[in-house]
Amino acid sequence: MTTNKFWKQKKLSAFTAEEWESVCTHCGRCCLLKLQDEDDDEVYYTDVVCRYHDCRTHLCREYKNRCLLVPECLKLTPENLGNITWIPKLCAYHILHQTGDLPSWHPLVSGRPLPDQYKISPDVVSEPDVPEEELEDHIIEEDDND
Ligand code: SF4
Repeated sequence: MTTNKFWKQKKLSAFTAEEWESVCTHCGRCCLLKLQDEDDDEVYYTDVVCRYHDCRTHLCREYKNRCLLVPECLKLTPENLGNITWIPKLCAYHILHQTGDLPSWHPLVSGRPLPDQYKISPDVVSEPDVPEEELEDHIIEEDDND
């Protein structure tokens, strides 16, 4: 547990790069592939995870190059955080932006690793294993992955 609750004392835009990165719980939720309805722009989550997501460590295997390799991979910033309509409800950045605080289960608050229930399911399928035309069959309710 950190005694320096920087996330309560600073604006998001004043976080150091290290502080900003430490907010990410590596839950993997933003790495789930999403489909957008062409008619109404609604975004649907799938249980298919990005090809670069390491399901064992819950880290991106290409973190530094992720936006080059996957152009639609969005880099979260204090500036764009409020404009991302599809951001996962349990994303720590989203919660911090909405409430001004981190939840009790966040590792910076609890001093413990993220509980499994907040990570994406171990049953997710990796992108290379799902043909694009079958992605629709993998749509889930976002909370199904709790
Ligand atoms: S959803 Fe948020 S907290 Fe989870 S891995 Fe993505 S950026 Fe990090």
